[in-house]
Amino acid sequence: MAGQGRRDRPLSVRVRPGGVVHSPSVSAVPVERLDELQAYAEAVAGCTRCRLAQGRTQVVFGSGNPHADLMFVGEAPGFHEDKQGVPFVGQAGKLLEKLLAGIGLSRQDVYIANVLMCRPPGNRDPQPDEIEACERHLFRKLELIEPVVVATLGNFATKLLSGRPLGITRVHGQEQQTTIGTRSVLLYPLYHPAAALYTPAMLKVLESDFARLPELLGRTLEPAAAPEPELALVPPPPPAEQLGLF
Ligand code: URA
Repeated sequence: MAGQGRRDRPLSVRVRPGGVVHSPSVSAVPVERLDELQAYAEAVAGCTRCRLAQGRTQVVFGSGNPHADLMFVGEAPGFHEDKQGVPFVGQAGKLLEKLLAGIGLSRQDVYIANVLMCRPPGNRDPQPDEIEACERHLFRKLELIEPVVVATLGNFATKLLSGRPLGITRVHGQEQQTTIGTRSVLLYPLYHPAAALYTPAMLKVLESDFARLPELLGRTLEPAAAPEPELALVPPPPPAEQLGLF
């Protein structure tokens, strides 16, 4: 299965720039997953599951290394993202790139997506029904990319993926192992770079939380608990005398 071999390699190899093959074991990552992600992006490019389809220029699916061990999930595309079709290309994106460079990574090493794939009008907050309509797309990306660490940027991504209502001020910098689909991932809530842009104190916190990412990427996670077996609808065996056993 994709990704199993990559988990126990050192960070320098586990985070593969731009999908470039660095070793024979990395070349074992199946190409099908990339194809599947690409096929999925094409399949949802015309999504009309919510009202945001009407005002968008295009769906902003996500970008980066489809085999990344580190995935970021932001909130929703803004003006520039909607125009270019790529997440985090505005001022917040520049800050994200700077933070990545601070830990020796670039956006080609990681995967970046959002809770919503379409821009809300005037960059308003995502609404619950829009999040609900879009979450299947995010979960499918998580399933195909198989990241080890999912860094949630801001409240919306954090609440959606943690399944808890706790705000980012309370939980930032506190990693938490969770199960997404059938896999264990380390969820790591961070302040949203757009918020940190205008609040120097928040930027300091974001920088120091960010600095822990290499250590988190080196963690070995407990395997996800096996799902409860489904109750088999097998009728009970007939009484022994019917079986002619006695
Ligand atoms: N903010 C987000 O949450 N996502 C983007 O893509 C850009 C800004």
